[in-house]
Amino acid sequence: MKNLKINNRFTAELPADPNETNETRQVSNAVFSYVNPTKPSNPKLIHASKEVAELVGISKDEIKSEAFLNTFSGKEILPETRPYAMCYAGHQFGNWAGQLGDGRAINLTEVEHNNDFFTLQLKGAGKTPYSRTADGLAVLRSSVREYLCAEAMYHLGVPTTRSLSLMLSGDLVLRDILYNGNPAYEKGAIVCRVAPSFIRFGSFEMLTARNELKNLKDFTEYNIKHYFPEIKGEPKEQYLQFFKTVADKTREMILHWQRVGFVHGVMNTDNMSIHGVTIDYGPYGWLENYDPNWTPNTTDSQNRRYRFGNQPQIAQWNLYQLANALYPLINEAEPLEKILESFFTDFESDYKTMFLSKLGVFTLSKNDDKLITALETVLQLSETDMTIFFRNLSTIQKIDSVETAIEKIKNSFYIPEEISGDILDSWKKWFAVYLERLKTEELSDENRSEKMNAINPKYVLRNYMSQLAIDAADQGDYSLIDELYLLLQKPYDEQPEYEKWFAKRPDWARSKVGCSMLSCSS
Ligand code: AMP
Ligand code: MG
Repeated sequence: MKNLKINNRFTAELPADPNETNETRQVSNAVFSYVNPTKPSNPKLIHASKEVAELVGISKDEIKSEAFLNTFSGKEILPETRPYAMCYAGHQFGNWAGQLGDGRAINLTEVEHNNDFFTLQLKGAGKTPYSRTADGLAVLRSSVREYLCAEAMYHLGVPTTRSLSLMLSGDLVLRDILYNGNPAYEKGAIVCRVAPSFIRFGSFEMLTARNELKNLKDFTEYNIKHYFPEIKGEPKEQYLQFFKTVADKTREMILHWQRVGFVHGVMNTDNMSIHGVTIDYGPYGWLENYDPNWTPNTTDSQNRRYRFGNQPQIAQWNLYQLANALYPLINEAEPLEKILESFFTDFESDYKTMFLSKLGVFTLSKNDDKLITALETVLQLSETDMTIFFRNLSTIQKIDSVETAIEKIKNSFYIPEEISGDILDSWKKWFAVYLERLKTEELSDENRSEKMNAINPKYVLRNYMSQLAIDAADQGDYSLIDELYLLLQKPYDEQPEYEKWFAKRPDWARSKVGCSMLSCSS
């Protein structure tokens, strides 16, 4: 891989763990430990992204090479690089969890290409000093889900880590999928993912919890210097600006999640990137019927802390933890609190603009709050598919009658026979107001429809679609991974050859493991 330009800033500038053994331990006074991937017994490439390869400086011909297979399966280490696992802590499900770290992620190297920096990281490449009691491995099903979803999100315009490659390791991994005493062997897999860095809120929490204030200062300054070089001024002012920038980026990311119906599932502070990119795809899911209370994560089914409608509040809660971690550098609560408060007020105003744009309303007027809340209510009266509803909404014309409008979106109802009586009346009332509202907008039907279709995706990675791809892949058939990968590169385009994917969740997937029920087992 001749154009891969190695440039390791993280390991060159930040404190390393002097212990270089691969034993599970607490690591203090360091932000990473050197560790090599475990050699897989028989790696096999399932899929690679040409686009991401080119982004980091790998040509499409090189993807087919032995060097690519060996490097991104962890079998061989690139010359002049030293892989490492990062040390971080975090709050999990609202509770302080202490040191976590890269338990099954290994950073291979940073590379520089076209003036951009990328960290290349393997997930599932074996134990590290942070593996605690676990095996450091990942199974095929969760790897397919991460690989496809990150690329789907990117093409939806949602900030995210990217996927370079998906490989089988050739080894078997023991997992109890539902944590109910039924462990079974599954195929092991390794994903190589790419991001500006994999630094998390929990990276800062770790240093503050250990009272390593010099490291905290150096680490924060490292982040500002390399990732947010536009931040200037007095040190304290810089730290505050840094926090504000992370808060802004996080807000933008969550807004996109709410726009496309993505539920992360495990918004622990160790899964929050300082770049505001979606990170660590685990038991995530896509809303099918619009239900703000839905979470795909069975591990969270009691409290539903990470349910769809709670994601903005949780992002703010996580930012509180980051603020606490940065506090010793600033020693003033007020400016941090101000940023945290404005996170929410800004989110609410952005959310309104975003939601209205999904409706094809691009100017603001005084009754719009009601239009939004009324729709959020009526969408939940009977199961209504979020993606199909908003996509079909763009076919409505200003001159349509209420009946015609309902006819155009009725394909989004899961139980059409329920749309009668009071429920039908509620829909009629909402559409009557909506159609009147559309008439006050200047855009022609055609122009509005075009703008709406660039905001409301036609295709998302529905939970059952991944599961079909996983079931086939488990049998050695990767054609569905290829198909979904291609489909989801153009999620806003009409793709008549793939119309079958513009469909509601089939009945068999309603309560199937892997489709609507996922655990943290991966
Ligand atoms: P997650 O909930 O997947 O973000 O993981 C939380 C923590 O557990 C992180 O520190 C992971 O590195 C670690 N972890 C998860 N699965 C494994 C595994 N199979 N082996 C080692 N560490 C793991
Ligand atoms: Mg994680």
